[in-house]
Amino acid sequence: MAGIVLKSLEEIELIRESALIVSKTLGVLASEIKPGITTLELDRIAEIHIRDLGAEPGFLGLYDFPNTLCMSPNAQVVHGIPNNDPLQEGDIISIDCGALKNGFYGDHAYTFAVGEIDPLTEKLLQITKESLYVGIDVFRAGNRIGDMGFAIQQYCEKEGYGVVRELVGHGLGKTMHEGPEVPNYGKRGRGKKFVDGMVLAIEPMINRGTHRIKQLKDGWTILTADGKPSAHFEHNVALINGKPELLSTFHYIYEALGIQSEEEIPFRKAPFVP
Ligand code: MG
Ligand code: MG
Repeated sequence: MAGIVLKSLEEIELIRESALIVSKTLGVLASEIKPGITTLELDRIAEIHIRDLGAEPGFLGLYDFPNTLCMSPNAQVVHGIPNNDPLQEGDIISIDCGALKNGFYGDHAYTFAVGEIDPLTEKLLQITKESLYVGIDVFRAGNRIGDMGFAIQQYCEKEGYGVVRELVGHGLGKTMHEGPEVPNYGKRGRGKKFVDGMVLAIEPMINRGTHRIKQLKDGWTILTADGKPSAHFEHNVALINGKPELLSTFHYIYEALGIQSEEEIPFRKAPFVP
């Protein structure tokens, strides 16, 4: 992974532009997700939408990844490859999307329910998403990487969930993955200090059972070792004047799904103009 690259306010605005293209794309997908649609169909919709907005798919061809979206249903954690299997009622599907415009990347993810899902999995989604904001709230000048990992880990482990160790968040900018690594576990007071100009992709990957994972022979797909479901939520966040500011938004997803949410308000640039 490349080193840490601090960004100017102008560069942060360019990352915001790419991040919002991802946010809007996830919003389009939100209204398409239903039993019967395949992840490959969703992948095509996303690619067309990203190109219509003047960007390139950020993952397509990156490390030779074959598609626009990483699509990881149920026990898959991340890096699943879109295919022709239809989604089924009761599935969950993590969709991770990247976009490249003006030389800067956006990269975030949301785990969707397909129709009605069981209450245990519903809770996994809720806690994982909440842990993302718990982590974002620690992204303040003077705090350290370990403080963020500690906060996310505690929040999820108190529910008995497994925090994936092998995959981590990252810095984001002219490269998709740059320093620092942003683990979802850690010890307080350890690791690099947060400073203004950092832009992070913060992305808890949380399992309903063991934290252990395995990889399919396709060389990409990561899944839970015990076959229990896994959830993944990701935001892109800049550190400005010592405080975290969201560059991505789930607003378009919530608009598509008719959900009211105030979760982003503490971290939004005011006024918020969707
Ligand atoms: Mg991602
Ligand atoms: Mg990422």
